[in-house]
This record gives sequence, structure tokens and C-alpha cells, in this order.
Amino acid sequence: MVQVEVEDAAVASGTDLWQRIKSRLAARIPPQAFHNWVADTRMDAHENGNLRVLVPDQVTKDFLEQEYGDVIARAIQELNLPIRRVIYSSRMNGAPAPSYNAERAPNAALEDGSAEMSRSLPEPIFASAVGQLNPRFRFDNFVVGSCNQFAHAAARAVASQPGRSYNPLFIYGGVGMGKTHLMHAIGRELLDSFRGMRVVYTSGERFMNDMVGCLRSNRIAYFHRHYRSADILLLDDVHILAGKERTQEEFFHTFNELYEHQKQIVISSDTTPKNIPGLVERLRSRFEWGLMVDVQAPDLETKMAILDKKAELEGFSLPEDVRIYIATKTKSNVRELEGALVKLIAYSSVTRSAMTLNMAQQVLKYLIPGAERRVTMESVIRAVAEEFKLQPAQLKQKSNARTIAYPRQIAMYLIKELTPASLPEIGRNFAGKHHTTVLHAIRKIDQLRQKDADLNRLVQKVTDSIH
Ligand code: ADP
Ligand code: MG
Repeated sequence: MVQVEVEDAAVASGTDLWQRIKSRLAARIPPQAFHNWVADTRMDAHENGNLRVLVPDQVTKDFLEQEYGDVIARAIQELNLPIRRVIYSSRMNGAPAPSYNAERAPNAALEDGSAEMSRSLPEPIFASAVGQLNPRFRFDNFVVGSCNQFAHAAARAVASQPGRSYNPLFIYGGVGMGKTHLMHAIGRELLDSFRGMRVVYTSGERFMNDMVGCLRSNRIAYFHRHYRSADILLLDDVHILAGKERTQEEFFHTFNELYEHQKQIVISSDTTPKNIPGLVERLRSRFEWGLMVDVQAPDLETKMAILDKKAELEGFSLPEDVRIYIATKTKSNVRELEGALVKLIAYSSVTRSAMTLNMAQQVLKYLIPGAERRVTMESVIRAVAEEFKLQPAQLKQKSNARTIAYPRQIAMYLIKELTPASLPEIGRNFAGKHHTTVLHAIRKIDQLRQKDADLNRLVQKVTDSIH
């Protein structure tokens, strides 16, 4: 059971309005939530209908305002208290938990000598999960396909039974594949279904910056309290910590503390623990204790489903041909897919014209150059060499053997077609051939293509295989 331990002078004199609200909250919200967010708060002042309440940190302030605003307002109403507004402030000076003492007078720490001095510095600002979680990154708008179904299922399991089955959950995969989306979805779901849970969302980078900042200002105790008091810690993009040994060390202790208390840990990374360079062994092995799941690039069908979902969210419906066009023209990166859609929607709204395939082709041709293949001389040479079972270097040799010369002509032709390279530049790349030789090669292939269907198919095939 929760003990409401604050019993100070104000209560005795019957003026601690906050205490009365607290007591009511203790009956209304789960004990764990009370412990996390309410127990360590205290009344500061009451004037002109404003109740000032001291809270231990910014995160608690945000949480009380955003998540418990309603419950508190109701309590005030029921108790019929003369309060119009509750104002929280985190300038409470106390030693961080566990030695944090709610009974200490606000400024007592200042008089306690130098050891207490460092603790009495103002609380560093840690971002609260409530404000950080993107409301659009929820489970119900995450499109599940074969590329991500396992990761999705694991994330759901963690969100319904944190700390039970998969701890830690390690999600890895390339950029724009939905890792952050899943992490936010877990956080949001937990906040919704376990009100009062202390969800801490951070990224490798933020964790590091918070640590460095706190070390510098002599407030590392706050850092420890913030991260180690989490009921669930979501650490996005852990690969950023590659080679950062001090930060890894800190994270190692955070991890252990949480793990020992069966608190859920979810980590994302652009690659497996094994492949993160400069990740210390003891962290690597811990990451592998739980469940590792990957998110892969979406296939065409999933891409189209994602487009539909996103368009629907924006209140648009995509014509079939536009949908196919975007899905096939963008690389398999959901962020790029979204970018294309957003631009198209913007264009369509601004010009007040219906979305058509023609419009999509026009708009996206300029706006997503990344979606067009960026063909280079080297990528053409590689593709041609592969088709003819040669080494790229062989194509670039001086040799005039037909087995080399013919593919080389095709390569020159394709480079001219697909890249901005000039004739002399092409020549230089092939053992210094004169530009007239290059021109000759190009003309020849061009003419052959007119009548040789096999060559035509081959050119098409090689073009498609360039990457
Ligand atoms: P990552 O963290 O893996 O780089 P994000 O989670 O930031 O990728 O995803 C990039 C964008 O793509 C986000 O806007 C996200 O909502 C969207 N996205 C990724 N995967 C999906 C999916 N399966 N369903 C819906 N949207 C997705
Ligand atoms: Mg991400």
C-alpha cells in the first residue's frame, strides 16, 4: 500500500490543500503511479486561487500537467477547494532518490554544506516521454507486412506485458524502416494502458548529451535518478554509442539496474549488436539476452498499403496508378515514400488540381531525385561486366579482343545514355581511349539496337540491373 508520508506543519494547521488532493489521488490512481508521480510532491504556497506545488523534476511536472490534469481538477471540485489553478514548479531542492527527502524544506539543502550544494543545483531538463512521443507513431497506423511482422508482434507483446517476456527487446534495421515508429507506439500504448507508468524515451545521442551535461555541471545524481527510475526505458538508435566508452559504461549500469528490477528495456539500432563497431562486449552480450528482431525494407505491397494509410490520414485517397507509381519509383525506404506523398499532396492542394499520374510524374521527377537511380560510370561498368561474366577491370583494359571490345562498347553506350559524362571523360575511364573512338562505339550500338532484338533485350536487362 502507498503511504502518504508527507506530514508537515502545513497539514497540521489544516491549510495544506495539496495534501488533501494527494490523499484523494492516492485512492484514485494505481499505487505505482502514485509512487512515481505524486508521493514526492509538496505544497509551496496558496494565494489568490493559485496553488503552487513543488515537484522533484521537470518530467513529473509535465506528467502531472498533461496526464493528471483531469483527475486533479475533479478532486479539487469534489473537495470544493478554493483553487483555480495548480502551478507546478520543479525548483524543489532535494537529494535525488533514493535518499530524496520530501520533508526537507525547499531550501534546506543549501545550508547543508558542500556535499549537498551540488545536489541543490537546479534540476537539469530531461525531456518527458509524454511530450516526446509522436502521436502519429501508434500501433494502429503501423502497416504490418512480411518485412516487419515479427518486430511488430514483439513490440505489441512488450507493450501489453512489459518486463515479462522479451527483455531487452532489440529492434534493428535500416534507416526509415519504422524502428522509431514502433518504439513510440510501445511508449504510447503503455502510457495509455498503464496510467502513471514511468516511461522514459531517449536516443543514444540524447542519453550521451544528458550524461555529459550532468557530469559537467556536477549533477550526475539527477541523471542516474532520471534514467534508473524508469519503469520502461526506450533507447532509440543505440548505435550512436559506438566507440563512446564512457557513455556505454553509464548505460551498462542503467541497464543492469533496470533489468534487475524487471523493468522493460527496448533498444533500437541500425544493425545487430555484433555489428555495432566499438560496442563493449558486456553490453553486446546483454543486448543478446532478450529478443532481437529486425525490420526490413517493405515489399511493393506493403509500400502501397503504407501509402494508403498515410494518404488516408491526410484525408486524401490515392488513385491506383499514382499509388503504384510512387511505390515503384521510391526506394524501399518508408521515409522517402512518405516524403514523395507529402510533396504530391502539397502540390495538389496548392494548385487545386486532382492528383493524376501525370502530375505525380512531373512533381516527383524533380522532387525526389533520390528516387531516380543515380547512375555512375562505375555502376554501369559493373553491371555490364557482370552480364558478360567479366571483371570490371577487364572492361577498362586496352585489349581489343572481341570478348572485351563488344561489352566495352555497350558500356560506353550506356554511360552516355544514363550519365552526364562527356565523351572525353568516358574515354579516359577506358584506358584513355580517344573521344572519337567512344563516339564510334556509341553510334555502332545505337545502330545495332535498331535491328538486333537480342541486343535490345540485353541493353534493357543491363540497364535494369544497374545499382
Ligand atoms: P527508422 O527509425 O527505422 O529510421 P521511422 O520509424 O522514423 O524509421 O520511420 C520513418 C517514417 O516511416 C515514419 O514517418 C514512420 O511513420 C513511417 N513508417 C515506417 N514504417 C512504417 C509502417 N510499417 N507503417 C506505417 N508507417 C511507417
Ligand atoms: Mg529512427
